[in-house]
Amino acid sequence: MRAGFVDAARRPNIVVLSQLNTAVAASFFASKPLALLLYGVPGSGKGTLGKMLSQVTAWPHISTGDLLRKHVAEGTSTGQASAGILRGAYAPDYIVNNLVASRMREADCRRGVILDGYPRTLEQTMDLLPVLRRLNLEPVLVRLNLDYTEVVHRLQARCHCQTCGAIYNLVHLPPRLAGSCDQCGGRLVAREDDQVDLLSKRIEQYLTLTAPVARFLEASSVRVEEFSATEAPSRLLTAVLTRIGTETPSDELP
Ligand code: AMP
Repeated sequence: MRAGFVDAARRPNIVVLSQLNTAVAASFFASKPLALLLYGVPGSGKGTLGKMLSQVTAWPHISTGDLLRKHVAEGTSTGQASAGILRGAYAPDYIVNNLVASRMREADCRRGVILDGYPRTLEQTMDLLPVLRRLNLEPVLVRLNLDYTEVVHRLQARCHCQTCGAIYNLVHLPPRLAGSCDQCGGRLVAREDDQVDLLSKRIEQYLTLTAPVARFLEASSVRVEEFSATEAPSRLLTAVLTRIGTETPSDELP
């Protein structure tokens, strides 16, 4: 784990990682393979947290938003079927389920995985749970709580590097040089779907399609860990690592 963390310090969000409680990161150990399901309203910080968690745990960060945007940009058939995401519409369930299932067949998902923005509907949840069972990954819903009134401010301030994908927030996590990525000097741009006029549609979909996912998982006794999304990213990361990790490798436990 530690090697992954040190190596990862050269990748995006070095600013945040440098403020991380390194003792917590270095001693992080999960007693069994986990599937962290990052869950929260748009702008709650799932992407930033997912990248950082991946750097510390060396588990792959699978963001369905990133996968879909790549397909849309490349004009694949998957991208054409999902083009509505640029206007705030959810991609069809079968498309997203296939993307995730095929990514999770890769060997790097065996020790643990970080799913960002998936499952977003009940249908996706029903598809995912058997996949996790087959891979022996225990789901943990990592719920980032954020007031809806905060969402608009967050999304207006959000931007990312066009080249390496590092995520910034002009208020909470600004780049050192305006408009330029700290990591690679790439240009910082806003996401097409972060326009204020698309926001109500995105929130409405979240409430009608995604909120039932958390209710269902809770009712199914899936482990749920809640955090305030207003915490600084480094503190949030430390809190999540502390909550989901155990201090001693399982083979040393009594
Ligand atoms: P994100 O990067 O997670 O904010 O996702 C960006 C957009 O991609 C979302 O607003 C949706 O339109 C689409 N999207 C991402 N994940 C999913 C999913 N699991 N199911 C359907 N659409 C998704």
